Amino acid sequence: MPCLACLARLAKPRARGVASAFLARGSAAWQVRGVPVCRFPLLPLPSHRPNPYTGSPLDRVSSRREDAAFVAACRADPAARFLPVWRGHSLLSGMAGGRPRGVFLSAAAATELPPDLPWALLGLQEKAPVFALDLSAFEDPAALLREAALPAGAEFLDLRAAAGTLPAAEAAELAHARGLMHWRARHQFCGVCGGLCEPQAAGNFLVCTSCHTQHFPRTDPAVIMLVHHGDFALLAHSRRFARRNMFSTLAGFVEPGESAEEAVAREVREETRVEVARVRYHSSQPWPFPGSIMLGFFAEAASQEIVIDPEEIAEARWISRAEIRTSGRDFSLPAPDSIARRLIEDWVAAS
Ligand SMILES: [Zn+2]
Repeated sequence: MPCLACLARLAKPRARGVASAFLARGSAAWQVRGVPVCRFPLLPLPSHRPNPYTGSPLDRVSSRREDAAFVAACRADPAARFLPVWRGHSLLSGMAGGRPRGVFLSAAAATELPPDLPWALLGLQEKAPVFALDLSAFEDPAALLREAALPAGAEFLDLRAAAGTLPAAEAAELAHARGLMHWRARHQFCGVCGGLCEPQAAGNFLVCTSCHTQHFPRTDPAVIMLVHHGDFALLAHSRRFARRNMFSTLAGFVEPGESAEEAVAREVREETRVEVARVRYHSSQPWPFPGSIMLGFFAEAASQEIVIDPEEIAEARWISRAEIRTSGRDFSLPAPDSIARRLIEDWVAAS
């Protein structure tokens, strides 16, 4: 399906005019590593900054992962770097000083580790290979890394502990490593026959050693939506939230046989009984906690009465832009690394 920009270039004059009119009303260039790839109409957002955990500098070399000689050369490259993952945690330094960094092990340090650790080639960064390395089999990963000349204060933490303060490129690389190794750890056996799976393509997918089914990394689509009515947004405190007074956008998983837009309407209805009329895409965000991609939307409310689902929601409110601007008095907003925060900030700024 071509985008409107492609249609504007390729279509017959009438269709070209319609597409050009849409583009003139508001468009932006999506970029992947700085290369414009497509133009299509977007909301008139106040900014086009990337979402946290996007913008990885890695060339994923997906067409070369099954080239055994290439992968062997990457493994032997003295410039290679390794991102250790331990039971869902990432190795971070600088937390105490408020300037966290992701810790990469050198190739020399990695050779001191046991040789049979699960690993995966994430890609090349300025031609140097970057790998993920799973240390989860060990109770004390710090002891394992004692000879690795780690930065002072380096420790395994939930990546979200450094929310919004890690350099963006590092956050994206650490999220990639965490997401891939989490999936690998939970798919050691075939879902078809129960046979043992072994890694292929430099650890980027699995193959059953018994029935030979290929298993590819799973990313669960979830919708997250800011529902608005006039100057008010529908925000809720979920029973799952750790912070007692945090209010955020509604969210939920897309179910089989359902479009993302249908999932938005269903989740809002199920959690608050509010109906939505128009659903508009905003942006997406990888969310490897543990394995989702968040699809962000704005949704216009067609009703305002709130009846919460008490199993999911502790409280839901219509909150004005002015109240959100002064949040902190009686409620707080979601973490700065979340697309929920981005949706709220963009909606407030769009007034
Ligand atoms: Zn199998």
